[in-house]
Amino acid sequence: MPHLAINGATPVRTIPFPTWPVYTEEDAQAVSDTILSGKWGNSKGDRVHTLEDQFAAFQQAKHGIAVTNGTTALNLALQSVGLTPGDEVIVPAYTFIATANTVLMSNAVPVFVDIDPDTYNINPDLVEQAITPRTRVIMPVHFAGLPADMERLKDIAQRHHLAIVEDAAQAHGAQWNGMGVGGIGDISGFSFQASKNLNAGEGGIILTDNDELAGIAGSLADCGRSDDGLWYGHYRLAGNHRMTEMQGALLLSQMTRLEEQCKRRHENGDYLTEQLSRIAGISPTIRPGQANRHARHLYVFRYKADAFGGTSKSKFVDALNAEGIPASPGYSLPLYKQPVFLEKNFGVYMQEALREIDFGALNLPETEKACADEAIWISQSVLLGEKEDMDDIVRAIAKIRERRQELARG
Ligand SMILES: *Cc1c(COP(=O)(O)O)cnc(C)c1O
Repeated sequence: MPHLAINGATPVRTIPFPTWPVYTEEDAQAVSDTILSGKWGNSKGDRVHTLEDQFAAFQQAKHGIAVTNGTTALNLALQSVGLTPGDEVIVPAYTFIATANTVLMSNAVPVFVDIDPDTYNINPDLVEQAITPRTRVIMPVHFAGLPADMERLKDIAQRHHLAIVEDAAQAHGAQWNGMGVGGIGDISGFSFQASKNLNAGEGGIILTDNDELAGIAGSLADCGRSDDGLWYGHYRLAGNHRMTEMQGALLLSQMTRLEEQCKRRHENGDYLTEQLSRIAGISPTIRPGQANRHARHLYVFRYKADAFGGTSKSKFVDALNAEGIPASPGYSLPLYKQPVFLEKNFGVYMQEALREIDFGALNLPETEKACADEAIWISQSVLLGEKEDMDDIVRAIAKIRERRQELARG
């Protein structure tokens, strides 16, 4: 008789986990009020400007510039620090495509560096080794909401005169040594896309403590305008990347719940780690002491097939899903193995410095392992549940481990 739900037995859990987005009548009212105000753009209304101030304050940064999405936020953040064709930007290979695409779309060259398997964040030792005379920027990703090692990275950046552009798209509320991420490096980008821990379906924001960079980024987001220039004065080449007032209103309304949600995800994440670490073959990512708040956009753990009778990651994930626990195998490819890089399908962003690079020849072992065999994600909304909900996750994984022979046979 089977014991595992994937083979037809009763699942550990049959009721759903919290879903995303969370929304209320107040959210609807905030958007509706904005529509009825007739002020839909940020030149007339104050919602977007208020959001810029409030979100920057939430992350303890001085300036915020709201834009259309996270990709644009990163693109403009990179352009603000002043890149010229052929400049190199160091990025992790285990991340969303936008981290590297925005480097290319800023006319620079992405240099892929491996991750630390304990945190799945960029490995500072390997960052240092990847520096060349062309390196201009280090672009760490606070992957899954866990701050990258900003102490080490800032030290490296200072010694080599590099800028740090933080990809904080997954890190709303994350803190390193008590400081909100996004204002620790020179400039950063966050995403408000539908899956993110604060969202308006789409949207993004640039944060910085640097007055000059804030001025450039603000101009780049708004047709090259200048704060003290003419309305129809355009002082640099730039597009229009402004956020609407309806998005601003929805984000402000959701921000009233952000702190409480951040605390809950952080606490449930730490609790899960404590419990799951006891199961052989399951290694949750480690939160270093300095990362005093993990945003937990994803709950991430490493899976060791050896401890599960050799069962592949994808089959384990199927078994976990069958037990009623929503899990995902995460990014399936290192960025350098994405077709866009293998085929150098860079369109108008193709440049001389890219011709010599053979992205297909790269092989970063920890990123490869994370994609193919080890990394498993659970989405942030699951962590908005109660402790008993976390216990179901632990029970399901422990059950699969206990019945690993059945899984391997099936
Ligand atoms: C979501 C995300 C982005 C891009 O944000 P969008 O709003 O979807 O454009 C960039 N980097 C990382 C790591 C992300 O997760």
